[in-house]
Amino acid sequence: MPRFSLPRRLRAPLLALAALAIQAPVLAQAPADAGPAMAVAAVGPHSHYVEGLTQLGSPKNQNFISNAGFVITPEGVVVVDALGSPRLAERLVQAIRRLTDKPITHVIVTHYHADHIYGLQHFQQLGAKIVAHSASREYIQSDTARLRLEASRTDLAPWIDGNTRIVPADVWIDGPTALKVGGVVFELTPVGPSHTPEDLTVYVPSEKLLFAGDLFFNGRLPFVGQANSKQWILSLERLLAFDAKAVVPGHGAVSTEPKKDIGTTRDYLKHLRQTMGEAVENFVPFDEAYEQADWSAFEAMPMFGPANRMNAYNTYLLLEQETLQKK
Ligand SMILES: [Zn+2]
Repeated sequence: MPRFSLPRRLRAPLLALAALAIQAPVLAQAPADAGPAMAVAAVGPHSHYVEGLTQLGSPKNQNFISNAGFVITPEGVVVVDALGSPRLAERLVQAIRRLTDKPITHVIVTHYHADHIYGLQHFQQLGAKIVAHSASREYIQSDTARLRLEASRTDLAPWIDGNTRIVPADVWIDGPTALKVGGVVFELTPVGPSHTPEDLTVYVPSEKLLFAGDLFFNGRLPFVGQANSKQWILSLERLLAFDAKAVVPGHGAVSTEPKKDIGTTRDYLKHLRQTMGEAVENFVPFDEAYEQADWSAFEAMPMFGPANRMNAYNTYLLLEQETLQKK
């Protein structure tokens, strides 16, 4: 206990200052571009992934807020998603190089959201072929994509800068496609429009491993946003049909109990549609419907607080539209 007593509101800032003074020399020694740790975890006999932070992108985290994975085949390495900045891609390649010196032959893109694709140019420089669904082209050419990149050059500097580009695919696919590298089969399945029009899942039967992109956020409630939840539920049913032992989501930890974990996301979306759908049918206003609905099965899940009411509201609006279209 201190011998003199400071007002409580002053104590915490002073302690924080003292802690800073002690840490300052250590911080000064760390390289300027250290960024957050990037741990490689095994998800199959020849497969690994890195898990992004549950944060918004920032200069401090180098935009490391999404996952990427890779499979080492006898002839080369196939990467799934490219992370959120060229620097992160470079760090992922360094991590791959600690496990194998085989060339990186392909990068498969699950969807063209910034946090999954700003690293593509680094892989392309190394000679990897970029593979994506052709529905991405509309986004790549859009003002939304251009403005987002411009904003990121400020918000995520120096990791995103004037040299950062949105790299189109070298190989566009339209329907289910099997890619074979070193005898290992990668089954690419279009599952959009769910999270985006170009959603692609990647299943590797020999590893019993599924990369699900952003269709599935493990261990937390999703942000539904303007997504078409009807199509999304159907897509989750398709994910459940793969005989996967492990599923790497776009964000969050790998799932080794996919039936349970994907089932939870599907059940949540179904519950939103059922409760809000009944309210729309019966002309119950949103606030009242939200109060009346039973959320107990999902209340304890992370992100319930920030996400649930907005998800319910967006679903209510979506079901109003769907009902109008039926009439
Ligand atoms: Zn994402």
